[in-house]
Amino acid sequence: MRDLIVLGSTGSIGRQTLDVVRSHPGRWRIQGLAAGGDVDRLEAQVREFRPRRVAVADEAAAGELRGRLSGEGTEVLAGTAGLVELAAGTPGDGVVSGIAGVAGLAPTLAALRAGKRVALANKESLVAAGPVVRRELRARYPWLAEAPGLAVHRADAPLLPVDSEHSAIFQCLAGEGASRQVARLILTASGGPFRGWSRQRLAGVTAEQALRHPTWRMGARITVESALLMNKALEVIEAHFLFGVGYDQIDVVIHPQSIVHSLVAFVDGSVLGQLGAADMRLPIQYALTYPERWPSPAPGLDLAEVGRLEFEPPDRETFPSLELGYRAGRAGGTAPAVLNAAKEEAVERFLQGRLPFPAVAEVAGEVLAEHRPLAEPTLEEVLEADRWARERARSRMEAMAATW
Ligand code: MG
Repeated sequence: MRDLIVLGSTGSIGRQTLDVVRSHPGRWRIQGLAAGGDVDRLEAQVREFRPRRVAVADEAAAGELRGRLSGEGTEVLAGTAGLVELAAGTPGDGVVSGIAGVAGLAPTLAALRAGKRVALANKESLVAAGPVVRRELRARYPWLAEAPGLAVHRADAPLLPVDSEHSAIFQCLAGEGASRQVARLILTASGGPFRGWSRQRLAGVTAEQALRHPTWRMGARITVESALLMNKALEVIEAHFLFGVGYDQIDVVIHPQSIVHSLVAFVDGSVLGQLGAADMRLPIQYALTYPERWPSPAPGLDLAEVGRLEFEPPDRETFPSLELGYRAGRAGGTAPAVLNAAKEEAVERFLQGRLPFPAVAEVAGEVLAEHRPLAEPTLEEVLEADRWARERARSRMEAMAATW
């Protein structure tokens, strides 16, 4: 990939992507940037990287940015249509999909349809719309139907994982060939700030406490979801689509140091893991340089300084979100989209201080249980399931609030 389009450029993944680009002058050209409403930061990025085009969430932000950038020669697009046009219609061979949430779904699909390679950080593309992405990719790349999952080890691979756990698994599987003998995938989780807490104690958790992640610096929603193990639940589903491994063969282990980013157990009993500093620039860069490795701005790893690596089983009773991921994944079709949407609504409400922390999993679980999934949904059906789940979650939360 030489010419890049970065979706979500002012967010955590986007900023770290630009940091990687900055650390290798002349290696990549930024052709497009997309951001929500952070016009100040986007303006600074445009002045530094000189993209042809940018996209922002709405016309008001676009108008503001056009005024500030007049004479710069950068085209400013707006809204979902602008975002999709930026992702699919801008010259460039690589797209970094770093917009969080279902908003990242349409431009990611558009980029894949346009034949661009996507470095995927937006998990919702696979969690909510895994069957859609799989159908699209297999239609466009017939050879992909032979592969177990959507992440393949080819120089022309259309989809590369950026999520640290999935990048780790992808790296562990490199060189294993098509007949790879995988017994299990082992996703690691830091356990978040409430590891070892009881259920009762969790009831009083505030947004401020949930936003204090011990090892990773991420956006607000994903930080809360990590504290619930909900993020890991989504990553189980993401792993299923990326690597084509059944849910019975995907494990989660708590690893508080966040040094081992995930592992693969093979049928002969060997286990390969990928280790590194907890720095997203490493998996981002691997996706951008794949199949090569380049020196990275991420710090190296001093194991003697780390001292110890600990592992323990997840507490599935205190953190029931994890089980919801397996339940939704096994139900398949639109079920993961429903889990994703319901928990998004609940996390949003928790962040506003209007929902107790443990109620997030409760609401998401109830909405999931109510849903009758459609197998092999279209994109429209996925979005309809998403809307339905948000509506159900909101009315469920209203009913809960009335009883407090
Ligand atoms: Mg992750």
